[in-house]
Formats: sequence, structure tokens, C-alpha cells
Amino acid sequence: MNQLTDIPTIGEYDVLVCGAGPAGIGAAIAAARNGASTLLVEQLYHVGGMGTATPINTWCDTHGGTTFDELEERVGLLGQASRRFSPQGHTYPKGRVSLRGATVALVALRMLREAGVEIRFGTTAARPLVEAGTVRGVFVADRAGIGLVRAHTVIDCTADAMVAAGAGVECVMGDPDDGRIMHVNFMFAIGGVDAEKYEANKPDDGTLVEMIRAAHAQGRLHAPKGVFRPAPEVFPYHPPEQVLVTQSWEIEKVDCSDPDAVTDTLIDCQLRALEVVEFLREHLPGHEECFVSRLWEILGTRESQRIVGKYTVTRDDVLAGAKFDDGIAQAVFFIDFHDSPPGTSIPYTLEYKQKNIPPPGEWYEIPYRCLIPESVRGLLVAGRCISCDRSALASLRVMPTCMFLGQAAGMAAAMAVKQGMMVDEVDGAEVKRALGGDGWSYL
Ligand SMILES: Cc1cc2nc3c(=O)[nH]c(=O)nc-3n(C[C@H](O)[C@H](O)[C@H](O)COP(=O)(O)OP(=O)(O)OC[C@H]3O[C@@H](n4cnc5c(N)ncnc54)[C@H](O)[C@@H]3O)c2cc1C
Repeated sequence: MNQLTDIPTIGEYDVLVCGAGPAGIGAAIAAARNGASTLLVEQLYHVGGMGTATPINTWCDTHGGTTFDELEERVGLLGQASRRFSPQGHTYPKGRVSLRGATVALVALRMLREAGVEIRFGTTAARPLVEAGTVRGVFVADRAGIGLVRAHTVIDCTADAMVAAGAGVECVMGDPDDGRIMHVNFMFAIGGVDAEKYEANKPDDGTLVEMIRAAHAQGRLHAPKGVFRPAPEVFPYHPPEQVLVTQSWEIEKVDCSDPDAVTDTLIDCQLRALEVVEFLREHLPGHEECFVSRLWEILGTRESQRIVGKYTVTRDDVLAGAKFDDGIAQAVFFIDFHDSPPGTSIPYTLEYKQKNIPPPGEWYEIPYRCLIPESVRGLLVAGRCISCDRSALASLRVMPTCMFLGQAAGMAAAMAVKQGMMVDEVDGAEVKRALGGDGWSYL
């Protein structure tokens, strides 16, 4: 491997947070509010991660910590930007909340700036600087080139454990038996549709499926590689619901820590999206003028690398509603796989959901140790790449939990600075108390 030499140091902070998704927002705000000089670097040009760079705007069914509560409240002050609803009576009684992505990006940005966080957009955390087993900073890449940001503590919120993996932290991914990875989603939106005209003139299910089959047979319409349920019937319309599902294809076997795999998937899906629009314009009433109106910036990823930490939260912990002295985040979401056979995937039965969730009225906690890599020091990980088994990941990956984990990481990092210790020496029980953990309840 080539050495990075003559790289300028472009900043020195108590805490460097890499990635500004729900976890990174939570981490940076908590670190700064607790007195740490904090830099947040994000490869995109806004904050929010999957909650703003994709159409995923439902923050699912669980606690998200006080930073999340504040975000929800402040987004809610802006008219229709926030909405609580309960799609399934059997889940968390407070229901789930829909927050408009662009508003989240701006309100979270305001919260970050009010807290005193410095922010660098268009900046990729490229490689950590590791000295004697301790992360001392991160080489970042931006339009100006490569620079080194030094920090007492680095928090990896990249969702794919990219900093941790670069530092040599042991990571795992996929099903331990056969390597299956939860599906990724490619999303795009179609505009310019005359919905009334379509409604009045739409073909019946059978005719539509035949048209799609014919286009497939003529080689004019292709399903993307690895699309889940690759039957012509789901492409581009799903006959049972007669809704446009082209906005979201579930794709199997994509390793999102591999840039080549991500690029191949995106190129394939983007070209297929164009075919879909050509098909729609030619064949469907009301679609004569339609067009691809938006592509989202991140390939929707549910699972990639996660670290092996000092504790691994498990399926049994989720189902038992396990509590820990150093439990720094509470969670109640069910184990929501999007997995290929022989795994479990949507649509779930009510019975599945009731069996794959903590006991009624209970929550499970995620120990601080899940954020601490087994081997490397000076580094915490927050978000969906913490130390957990696949089943626990399928529950804790939701955005409120990721923000909760981030808040805990930021709090711990600030404590480490104040107390002049390494972040792995911080007492997780103290972090829990500081987060209000002594008073946590189900609701
Ligand atoms: C299709 C789909 C549907 C989902 N539906 C829901 C849902 O309904 N409700 C729900 O709560 N959750 C849902 N999720 C899960 C949720 O969106 C993610 O698990 C969650 O956003 C993870 O949060 P995070 O902060 O760990 O990572 P992310 O939200 O992925 O944020 C990571 C951030 O880090 C940045 N980044 C990555 N690498 C670098 C780097 N090297 N340098 C700088 N920046 C970097 C990224 O640009 C991004 O902004 C869904 C996920 C998918 C894929």
C-alpha cells in the first residue's frame, strides 16, 4: 500500500464525526453540547443520510433519544413536515413518525450549528491515521485534495464501518452460514403523469401483464440484476396493488462496502429506469409525457459491514428485552429482515411481528460496549454498523435507534475529553445516567 506523505493537517478537534446520517447528527450534537470541539464531515452536500438522501422519511416505531425528540418537535413546528401515525395497532403505541426529508436536513443543520458543530460537506473520510493501535485522526478527501483532521476521538457514523475497517477493526457482514445480505433498494421517481387520464383508461391487470411480458420478450424492458421477485409482473406494475413500484427495486447480493458493486448496481438500475419510462410513455395512457423526475443520492442499504466490538447485541437480547448497566439506547422495533430465501422477508404476518419483538411493554437496551471496537482505540462506531448479530441489526437499523446510538457516542466522546481518558475507558453506566437512562420507561 502506498504511504500518504506530505499531507497537510487541516484541523484538530476533540471529536471528529464521519458521516452525517441520523447517527452522525446525534453524535455531533451531543459531543458539541457537552463541550467538545467537534467537526462533522459528510460526503454529500446536506445532512440526514438515508433520511434525507432517499425518500425514506418514516422514522420507525421506537425511541430515538432526546435529540430525536427535539428534532421531531422542531420539524413538527413547520406545518405538514411531521406526522405521527399508527399503521399497525400491535406495534409501539406511540406509532411511527413521518418527517419530510428536506425539512429534516435543514432543521438538523440548524441544531448542529446552534450546538457549535463545524461542518464540512463534500468531504469523504478516506482513511484513518492509526498510530500504535490508536486512531489519531482521519485523512479526508474533498475538492481541494487530501488533508488530515486530527482528533482525540473519531466516531464512525458512515453506516458501513468504513473508518473502522480502514483502521483494521475486525468487521463482519451477511449471514454467517451462506453470506446472504439484506436487499438494497434503488429508488427513483416518475413525474409528468396525468393520473386522471390513467385512472379513466388504464388497462386491466391481465392486459398490463401481457404488455410487460411482451416488452421483456422483445428485449425492451429488463429487470435489474438481482432484483428480488424478478417476475415480469412486478415490472413496472405490481398487479395486486396496481401501483407504480418502479420507484423502489429490491436487489439481492450487493456488498455496499465495495465501491465497484455499488457502481455496477447503480449503473444497471439507472439504465433500467430509463427503459421503464420509455415503456410507460409508449404504452400507458396518461404517461405520454412522463419522465424520471428524481434519482436519490444513496443506494438504499440495510446491511453491510459492522464491527466486532466489546459486546455483540443479539437476537436473544432483542426478544428478551435485555437491559444492561451500560445500556445507552433503548429500542423496540421488530426484527425486520429484507432477506432472500431461506431467510425471512416482507410481507410479514402479524404472528411473525408479534414473535420477533421485545415482550409487550418492554424494550431492549444496547450496551455502550457495542460501540467500542475490540482491538483499536480512540474510535467509536454508531449507527447501523455497531457490533450486533444480523437479527439485532434488522431491528436496530431504524433511524431513531441510529440517532440514539449517535447521541450516546457523542456524549461518551465528550466525557473522554473532559476526563482526559480514552473513549474505551469511559464508564458506560455513567453515559447511560447522563442520557437519563435511570428513568427510562416503555413509553
Ligand atoms: C430501503 C430502505 C428502507 C428503510 N426504511 C426505513 C424506515 O421506514 N424507517 C426507518 O427508521 N429506517 C428505515 N431504513 C433504515 C435506515 O434508513 C438506516 O438504517 C439508517 O439511516 C442508518 O443510519 P446511519 O446514520 O447509520 O447511516 P446513514 O443514514 O446511511 O448515514 C450515513 C451517512 O454517512 C455518509 N458517509 C458514508 N461514508 C462516508 C465517508 N467515508 N465520509 C463521509 N461521509 C460518509 C453518507 O453519505 C450518509 O450521509 C430503511 C433502509 C432502507 C435501505
